[in-house]
Amino acid sequence: MNKQEMSDVLAKYNIKSPLTGNDLTEPIEFNLMFATQIGPTGLVKGFLRPETAQGIFVNFKRLLEFNQGKLPFAVAQIGNSFRNEISPRSGLIRVREFTMAEIEHFCDPNQKNHPKFESIADTRLTLYSACNQMDGKSAQQISIGEAVRNNLVANETLGYYMTRIHQFLLTIGIKPECLRFRQHMNNEMAHYACDCWDAECLTSYGWVECVGCADRSAYDLANIHKPLAYDWWQRNDAKTITDALSKLSINDVNDVEQTLKDKQEFILNLENGSEFKLTPEIISVKHSTKTVHVEDITPSVIEPSFGIGRIMYALLEQNFQCREGDEQRCYFTLPSVVAPLKCSILPLSNNAEFNPFIRQLSTALTKAELSHKVDDSSGSIGRRYARTDEIAIPFGITVDFDTLKEPHTVTLRDRDSLKQVRLGIDEVIDVVKTSLSEELSGLKYLKIPRI
Ligand code: AMP
Repeated sequence: MNKQEMSDVLAKYNIKSPLTGNDLTEPIEFNLMFATQIGPTGLVKGFLRPETAQGIFVNFKRLLEFNQGKLPFAVAQIGNSFRNEISPRSGLIRVREFTMAEIEHFCDPNQKNHPKFESIADTRLTLYSACNQMDGKSAQQISIGEAVRNNLVANETLGYYMTRIHQFLLTIGIKPECLRFRQHMNNEMAHYACDCWDAECLTSYGWVECVGCADRSAYDLANIHKPLAYDWWQRNDAKTITDALSKLSINDVNDVEQTLKDKQEFILNLENGSEFKLTPEIISVKHSTKTVHVEDITPSVIEPSFGIGRIMYALLEQNFQCREGDEQRCYFTLPSVVAPLKCSILPLSNNAEFNPFIRQLSTALTKAELSHKVDDSSGSIGRRYARTDEIAIPFGITVDFDTLKEPHTVTLRDRDSLKQVRLGIDEVIDVVKTSLSEELSGLKYLKIPRI
């Protein structure tokens, strides 16, 4: 419909705002892409990219050469994207300029298995399938191996990337109970996509799509030739039917052929739980043998697409905590892997005798490549601990008067549990390093015998 036709329909049916019953404005022409002018005259029109992927597609030939002309290979890119959103809102959740990080995994459309799939097949994900959404059921926990085996997730490569997204989000601090993968319904999916799952994080705005993961390929139906009757093709569920056909194995196709011959019909089970009757008038199976020397293929692409702002928002919101019984004392439980500073050094007071020990600890932390901060500002030690908690520093080393005595010892404090342990000054850095590298909750060092 053009603008006028839309306006006529609104007037004919007296359409109002569904929520408030208010009158609607006249339709306005609107482009989701940002236009700009290029060059000194400003006469050349350009558009800002709505996703980072375009650069990768444009450079595909070159990237393929880098990979010795072989599939599969993957390319990643991070940068700004621009979308002329109708109503930007909710902080970082819906903005017109945002940071995107995308991976394009190019593969042979006929070989979407993944060599590392076995290693992650047992990982359990929370999947909210299109069927469950339609039936009003909730999301289910299922291993990705089983999900691919049951054709819930279209193929191994898509499943592999979904699992890596899941691992990545948990590693950086998204809570497992606040993460789910929601499958796109047929009416949401781009026409070229055959399966698409969004990693959604629970925030105060509800479930928010933070990472999209789509198989953008078109289905290859080379072995099934269908003289499709025009009216059949017009059916609303034509895509569901062709999808179901394209998922048939060669054995299934043989079965279709035999059943059509014997019974003049074949009942095809569709993903949405319904059935469709195939008859010889609308489908035939042809077998052919091809001798292929060089095969032209259009690679399929599997695309995880990360919205960095949304991930950051969910991460900060899910990790923001207050100490029990004290709303003023807030802290971030960010895992040490993403905490910008890993350790703080806090002298108990500004006594000059502490300085050599502070220097020794700071040098050792630098050598161990651990970002840290010395806070020798005035203020009680409690206040300074609270300040380091606010900026998510997972560990704090305190130098006090006992440090001056032999053997020299310090206190190591854990941000989340507030537990403290006394350790030798020579061993404390190793304990911090081990605790960080093992991604523990920070408590393992408490098992070390106290001095
Ligand atoms: P899409 O290509 O629409 O699937 O978007 C990919 C990712 O970009 C989404 O998963 C979001 O995390 C993010 N994103 C999309 N639109 C916006 C927006 N207007 N503001 C912030 N992030 C966005």
